[in-house]
Parts: sequence; structure tokens; C-alpha cells
Amino acid sequence: MILVLFGAPGVGKGTQAVILAEKLGIAHLSTGDAFRAAIKNQTAVGMLAKEYVDAGKLVPDEVVTRIVEEAMSGTQFADGCILDGFPRTRAQADALDQLLAKKGLSIGRVVNLEVDDETIIARLLQRGRADDTEAIIRDRLNVYNNETAPLLEYYGEKGLLHSVNGIGDVEEVSSRVLVALN
Ligand code: AMP
Repeated sequence: MILVLFGAPGVGKGTQAVILAEKLGIAHLSTGDAFRAAIKNQTAVGMLAKEYVDAGKLVPDEVVTRIVEEAMSGTQFADGCILDGFPRTRAQADALDQLLAKKGLSIGRVVNLEVDDETIIARLLQRGRADDTEAIIRDRLNVYNNETAPLLEYYGEKGLLHSVNGIGDVEEVSSRVLVALN
């Protein structure tokens, strides 16, 4: 099963992805985590990605697609995976379709976690990551609205999209996500 966890920054994709990966016994791929690890380890991808991640901008599509392709070639992804934070642009969505088609796979479901902007800002300020200052959070929400949110229509038209209320405690939200998957 290829599952895409979709939603603005701060809706809880990462938290839910970890829980679902455990419950469903499939791998979890977070492009944000992959970039943070690459930056910490000062790899070539990390050097490329740093200025974008620090500023809350999208890393260029080719770089993102390359790390996803590399990660998905690993054996732990043979039974499927939960994608968290990817795709974020139409070009990434197309690249994902092509990548999956080469493996004879396709997306099973796209779960969209819905949380209002004010709740998101409060949550992220509390999390306090380096890119979680109020100004950068607002930029990331703008990037989401302009570049990523249009994918909702794309996946909606394909009949893959299920929206879930992301407000509530972690267990409550994860049971809603599981319902959306059944
Ligand atoms: P996240 O942990 O998902 O909030 O991602 C943190 C940062 O990593 C984002 O603000 C982007 O700079 C970068 N990033 C993660 N995933 C992507 C993606 N699919 N496309 C472009 N940039 C990404």
C-alpha cells in the first residue's frame, strides 16, 4: 500500500505517519526528515537543501525527487510506504506517478489532515524547530497554499483523496485516519 499523508505544515503528518507505519507494518518516508539528516551530515544533498529548508522554501523538485527515488529503491519499501511531506508540487506528483509505474505500483490513498491556520501556528511555535519562527511558519503556509494545496484537486479527481479532521488528540486523529483507510 502506498499511502500519501497530505496537509499543511504542522497538521500532524509526521506524528500520524509514525503511528500508522507501526500499525500497518510499512515503512515511513519523510522528505523533511531526510533533508534534516542530510544537512546535519553535510552531504551534497544537504548542502543544496539547507538554504531552502532554513527559509521554509521548497527544495527544488529534481533534488526532492532524487532523494525519494533513492529511498524507495531500498528493500524496506518493497511492501509499500507512507509518504509524509511528499509530493508538494504538481511536478513531484507526476514524478511520483512515474516512479511508481516503473515498479508496477500506484498510490492507494491520499489522506488529507485538516487543521485551521491559527491552530497550526500555535502548534508549530510550541514545537520550536529552527524553521518554526512565526515569520517562517507564515511563509511555509503561503508556500503550502500556493504550490501544494492545488494537488488536492488533482488527487480528488483521481478519487484517491480522503479528508480527515486533524484537530483533537493524537489517538483520536489516528483512529479517524484508520477509518479513512478502510
Ligand atoms: P517538513 O519536515 O515536511 O515540514 O519539511 C521541512 C522542509 O523540508 C520544508 O519546509 C522544505 O524546505 C523541505 N521539504 C520537505 N519535503 C519537501 C518536498 N516534498 N518538496 C520541497 N521541499 C521539501
